[in-house]
Amino acid sequence: ARKNARRTITIFTSDMEEASRQRAAIAIDLRGAVQNGELELFFQPQNDARTRSLCGFEALVRWRHPQHGLISPVDFIPVAEETGQILEIGRWVLETACTTAAGWPERFKVAVNVSAFQLAQDTLPLQVATALSKSGLKPERLEIEITESGVITDQEHALKIVLALKELGVSVAMDDFGTGYSSLSTLQSFPFDKIKIDREFVKSLTVSPQSAAIVRSTILLGASLGIPVLAEGVETEEQLGFLQLEGCKSVQGYLFGEPLPERRAAKMIEAALES
Ligand code: C2E
Ligand code: CA
Ligand code: CA
Ligand code: CA
Repeated sequence: ARKNARRTITIFTSDMEEASRQRAAIAIDLRGAVQNGELELFFQPQNDARTRSLCGFEALVRWRHPQHGLISPVDFIPVAEETGQILEIGRWVLETACTTAAGWPERFKVAVNVSAFQLAQDTLPLQVATALSKSGLKPERLEIEITESGVITDQEHALKIVLALKELGVSVAMDDFGTGYSSLSTLQSFPFDKIKIDREFVKSLTVSPQSAAIVRSTILLGASLGIPVLAEGVETEEQLGFLQLEGCKSVQGYLFGEPLPERRAAKMIEAALES
């Protein structure tokens, strides 16, 4: 038993070491990633819940590592936040998303994720303004998605940044609604233009009365505040049916499409225009 216990501890320690080694390796490899053109943007459709028509796309970043292939943002965005590399990556994401969207017909919008570290700086409004002017994209076609974790550390500063963004004419969405510690007070303090209900609640919508109640209440809350609600992670017709019935404004999820490379997003736009 003793031997086993020791072995467990050894494995645990080496796993932690392995994890931190991996993070360090990622940070080093990430250094040249932007300049070497290793980042790619994928685009996931966002659709009107009632009519099902295409409204726009959320831009989601991936890293094509020369040895390891396509790496998920879940694995490198947290590292980039720790090292500050997120600033350079964030600028690249903004400029690439705006340039791509500028090539789409005017009625399609693009949503871009911004992380806590980016919001904590003063540079974001200028980065956004630069991305808009370089690409020629109209500000009302750009939406910035921020999570609660991005605004709670220094609320006052985050609010200043959000107001400056809105001054530019872009809209601001609250991402992952319901997963933080103070979703309601964040909603009270920030002038959001959209609420995105987290996938966690949508996932169990049709099997859990609790999830159904939370989703229903969030849609109602949005209606009372005059803020449209988007449901994330919609995978089934049954989920869509519930959301339509409750008056959810828009939807995003595998039912309408996974995140697509730029060319496949363009094809989806063509198909939407023909129908
Ligand atoms: P998120 O903003 O909540 O993005 C939605 C995630 O859910 C995406 O994962 C998407 O592929 C996935 N998803 C969408 N629909 C479905 C569905 O129907 N079912 C399931 N099971 N999953 C679905 P992804 O692309 O791996 O992104 C993960 C997270 O990484 C994002 O979560 C976002 O927080 C972050 N991220 C992505 N791109 C960027 C970026 O450019 N900048 C920053 N700061 N963060 C980013
Ligand atoms: Ca998002
Ligand atoms: Ca989200
Ligand atoms: Ca989420």
